[in-house]
Amino acid sequence: MKILKFGGTSVGSAERMKALVALIKSDEPKIVVLSAMSGTTNALVEIANALYSRENDKAKKLIDALEKKYESVLQELYSKTPSLNKGKELVKNHFEFIRSFTLDMFTANEEKSILAQGELLSTALEHFYLEEIGIDSVLLPALNFMRIDENDEPDLQYIEENLKAELKKHNALPLKGGAGGGLFITQGYICRNAFGEIDNLKRGGSDYTATLIGAALNAEEIQIWTDIDGMHNNDPRIVEKTFPVTELSFDEAAELAYFGAKILHPTCVLPAQKRKVPVRLLNTMQPEAKGTVITDKASSDRITAVAAKDGIIAVNIKSARMLLAYGFLRSVFEIFERYKTPIDMITTSEVAVSVTIDTDKNLDAILKELKEFCSVEVDKDQTIVCVVGSFTAEKQGVAAKILDALKNIPLRMISYGGSENNVSVLVDSKYKKDALVALNKGLFGL
Ligand code: ASP
Ligand code: MG
Repeated sequence: MKILKFGGTSVGSAERMKALVALIKSDEPKIVVLSAMSGTTNALVEIANALYSRENDKAKKLIDALEKKYESVLQELYSKTPSLNKGKELVKNHFEFIRSFTLDMFTANEEKSILAQGELLSTALEHFYLEEIGIDSVLLPALNFMRIDENDEPDLQYIEENLKAELKKHNALPLKGGAGGGLFITQGYICRNAFGEIDNLKRGGSDYTATLIGAALNAEEIQIWTDIDGMHNNDPRIVEKTFPVTELSFDEAAELAYFGAKILHPTCVLPAQKRKVPVRLLNTMQPEAKGTVITDKASSDRITAVAAKDGIIAVNIKSARMLLAYGFLRSVFEIFERYKTPIDMITTSEVAVSVTIDTDKNLDAILKELKEFCSVEVDKDQTIVCVVGSFTAEKQGVAAKILDALKNIPLRMISYGGSENNVSVLVDSKYKKDALVALNKGLFGL
């Protein structure tokens, strides 16, 4: 069994939905995970925001506009009356549902239900199209097996049991090397939470759906199809000359995804890594391109890629009491833990520690508690620039090479040695582009 995930642009228009068939129609058994059509989730977020702020007229206009878009997709996608009618019925029902929220108070749960509509629509539309052209497929409802627990973490055991039960209904044996087959289509991103309510795996979460399914079934391979030819050595939106990295280890990919390589959802590598299922990143526009394959195999002694993560806040914590004391860091970290705020980078000296976080959600409360026993300074608008690779034996040279490349850029923090896969520096976001360009030159000669 292979898992193939297609992102929003790959189903972004009737034309793309039709073109998708060439990539999914082989006889191999597979589960196809689809995102919402590009732009849809953003539009649904906008609708939900309008409803939250009780701008119901604005919400209605946005809903009408989105529905129009879908109506025109239907006209282009289907050429036979039965499928066109099915499509019309589907779109009408989903938009009636969305519109129903304009009638009374709007809650957080309802927002999640609205956000789920994009994937429900795209998968059903593709399924009807396949039916129209005579290809059998089965729509697997993700809400029947995708689930997160009380901590918003995916519940892999639940997913495995329920997905297998779901597949069994269709006589497919999902296990590696097993017989059976078929073409299954399911929704990315959406799930149920511990209370059984509709929820999601956060923005960009369709990748996560795919790797969770791949892990749950011990799939042969997980393919993530996007509109770029794999993971690049640097951010192609910012740096001119970049190239796709053909092979990555799970550790390298996890660091890159987390530290800003937008091509993958930050935590989606973990389930695949856990069950050692290879992940292949491929380009819908250029299906023959090699892309990137992420496996268990680590290639040693190399600098693989550079990524950057914006929106970082540096918190500098100083206390005279830290001098020769123990337990100080623990009391600092406990506060971040209590507010469920992960720390990305840390640097320490004898009397101070700097940490970075990527959200200001609980910042005020954290600062208030920290200030009870130390002095605190905060720098916002920072960027983590992270160099990823396998630095085992080449260690002596690596840090020097990186710092030399960055010699003209003011560095706020440097983190080295935390893992063999990552050297990170923190810079003011205004230096991000310069830092990425300098590293491209210094590390890759580009
Ligand atoms: N449709 C969702 C989003 O736009 C999930 C995804 O595309 O991965 O974030
Ligand atoms: Mg995506």
